[in-house]
Amino acid sequence: MKKEYCGLFGIYNHSEAARMAYFGLYAQQHRGQESAGIVTWDGSKIREQKGMGLVPDVFNERHLGKELKGNVAVGHIRYSTTGASLIRNAQPFLVRFGGMHMALAHNGNLINTLELRQELEAQGSIFQTTNDSELFMHLIARYMNGGNLEEAVAKACAKVKGAYSMLLLANNKLIAIKDPHGFRPLSLGRVGDSYVLASETCAFDLLEAEYMRSIEPGEMLVIEDKCVESHSIGEPRPKRQCIFELIYFARPDSRVFGETVYDCRKCMGKVLAREAEVSGDFVMPFPDSGVFAAVGFAHESGLPFEAAMIRNHYVGRTFIQPSQDMRDFSTRVKINPVKSMIRDKKLLIVDDSIVRGTTIRSRVKKLRELGAREIHMRVSCPPIRFPCFYGIDFSSKGELIAAYNDVDEIARFIGLDSLHYLTIEGLRNSVSNPDDFCMACFTGEYPMKPEGWAGKMCLEDEVAVSW
Ligand code: SF4
Repeated sequence: MKKEYCGLFGIYNHSEAARMAYFGLYAQQHRGQESAGIVTWDGSKIREQKGMGLVPDVFNERHLGKELKGNVAVGHIRYSTTGASLIRNAQPFLVRFGGMHMALAHNGNLINTLELRQELEAQGSIFQTTNDSELFMHLIARYMNGGNLEEAVAKACAKVKGAYSMLLLANNKLIAIKDPHGFRPLSLGRVGDSYVLASETCAFDLLEAEYMRSIEPGEMLVIEDKCVESHSIGEPRPKRQCIFELIYFARPDSRVFGETVYDCRKCMGKVLAREAEVSGDFVMPFPDSGVFAAVGFAHESGLPFEAAMIRNHYVGRTFIQPSQDMRDFSTRVKINPVKSMIRDKKLLIVDDSIVRGTTIRSRVKKLRELGAREIHMRVSCPPIRFPCFYGIDFSSKGELIAAYNDVDEIARFIGLDSLHYLTIEGLRNSVSNPDDFCMACFTGEYPMKPEGWAGKMCLEDEVAVSW
């Protein structure tokens, strides 16, 4: 199962900064449901509210109306890709240093964490958390040394390796930073006299903010006194934006990396239909993530689109577990087939990806039990054969069915009559600038190597990565 990672939101110069941050995070809740936090600055004092759970669980009217005062705010929602699921790992990470109040919110994964922590601890640093943001704060503090904040941030960026889109609130400044490869999305917008920053533009839409542009890889954007200044950090490197944002993670109504997610997903479905056509009674998605590729597939193939699986939108993250004999309960509680649609039909299912294959297998089994005549599946991304080191939670090869099985074996395991994946070429043809994307989980060609490992990953390699 893929899990979302983190979402960022920042706002500068707004009388209701905390409330805007709340809705900015609310719109991006799909990016992380483990914890949420907002930090505000009122010109002299910094305030924070963080907690475990969903955005509405963490903040109430008292926080937003009275306590989180100030016209600058930074917010974060988290699904942990590093660090345990603990309140102390919730972000933004707050420090007071050299007369400055700083709050940092980070999306992504650093790949030289262990080495840097050991180096800093040997020099006397003491860490309170296991997350990358604290490490980054230590580096900034070290390089500040009474000097210029922007220079210290740039030096800290030169020291870390990996994926990071970050928002740093430092007294009157709001700073947005993206790593030189630009793995994770971050965009700039405007609402009235205020600047807003968010991982995804669906946050701008909710706040009626106007999208201005995507933060560039290797860019540090400093907002202060209503002025915006752009600086370059580090040597320019080739863009390697995460293609999975477009395949699965981002909301379809968002723009990320300058691309409209809905259009890209639909295009992936169209290309897939051209590559692996099959007849069938209708095209159906496994909701919700396969829907947009399925729409594209149906348009291109001329087959009707049917929503033959229905999602229960009110299932929370936890529910009372049933007894052992209620097999596959957690799969059934989330989606349920429309029985009259299934019997004696030749089904053509479109999904966005297969990670372990176990959930899809139990769904397919259910469709067989309901009398489906044939079940064919088309997947709108190539087989995921390699782990991700840059913040997506399928980091162990053992979890990936395509790492050790070919397409026919996967089809047999799931119980399909046929299975086809979108090719790498097909995926490249579905986005505007294919060379600007990381596709390492399909190809094994990593833009940056994690600690303790060298070379292109082969399927036989076992990678020992510590975080
Ligand atoms: S390896 Fe895959 S999931 Fe990870 S950043 Fe690259 S494209 Fe995204």
